[in-house]
Amino acid sequence: MAQENVNVVARIRPSSYKTNDETCIKIDPISSIITSTTNQKQFHMDKVFEQNATQEEIFEYVQPIIAAVINGIHGTIFAYGQTGSGKTHTMIGSDENLGIIPCAIEMIFIALNEEAKNFNISCTFLQIYCEKTYDLLNGNEKIEIHSSDILKNAKEVEVKSSNECMKILERGLEQRKVSGTSMNETSSRSHAIFILTLKTQYFKENKRHERISRLNMVDLAGSESRKHTDNNKTQNFEASNINKSLLTLGQVIRSIINPIPKQVIPYRDSKLTMILRDSLGGNSKTTVIVNIHSNSKYAAETISTLNFAVNVKKV
Ligand code: ADP
Ligand code: MG
Repeated sequence: MAQENVNVVARIRPSSYKTNDETCIKIDPISSIITSTTNQKQFHMDKVFEQNATQEEIFEYVQPIIAAVINGIHGTIFAYGQTGSGKTHTMIGSDENLGIIPCAIEMIFIALNEEAKNFNISCTFLQIYCEKTYDLLNGNEKIEIHSSDILKNAKEVEVKSSNECMKILERGLEQRKVSGTSMNETSSRSHAIFILTLKTQYFKENKRHERISRLNMVDLAGSESRKHTDNNKTQNFEASNINKSLLTLGQVIRSIINPIPKQVIPYRDSKLTMILRDSLGGNSKTTVIVNIHSNSKYAAETISTLNFAVNVKKV
């Protein structure tokens, strides 16, 4: 996967404080460089969305990925960042401020209906918590992921319209909320993966062919370090598992961009990268949106998130 197929962009969330915010970063929107005001370290992004950026602007940026999926190429969009930084706002949004997933659903149905192609769309919605995979479209049942047929055990729901698809999304989100209560507030500690699978039929040399492409939209677990606040075993276990899969994600993308002969890409080191294996690499397209706070109160986590962002694309 060439480097231009992976984009890493930062989105700065609006401050939750009213006045005189002390900021921990300086932004140069032209060069897309973010500078830490504490140590002057520079972070080069493919693009920086400042506080006032709208949901439309974010969607416009990722639109080429959805267009690629419509044309048969796999695409993946990640929201990364500490809890409260705006990941779910970016991916899901609200009724008034639709996020990437609802906009992508709308765009795909409009495009495919216009092209009057013979197509079929289905959704899968999983969450990964402590390196275990649960099916949000099937009562949050725990499922096994097999390396040969990765989504074999996941429930795949066929949808005929964007409305139907939105209902499935909402059903899964509701399930995520419910399961969060019983699994000790998992929503910030689990990765949610919404997958749209497109199958398009076409004829070539009088033969019918089917093309399959996937759009993966991932609301990652909060990236915050839990070292300071956690002193019980479950939470430490969670923290190490969350960090492990985020770490593996970074390593996988990095080794796809900079392939080293004979080096094995560590897909199998985490459930998340196993599930996404077929969609990362090749000529597929990936965007990682890192969500950050600019307020100096969050300096440490913001710097850690920016480090993740630049390490992903480090050559
Ligand atoms: P996360 O999913 O990373 O924990 P959320 O997306 O839930 O964070 O954001 C936390 C709160 O901040 C939510 O109430 C959300 O609506 C709000 N928020 C986040 N980003 C923005 C934004 N760009 N504009 C307006 N509100 C935002
Ligand atoms: Mg969230």
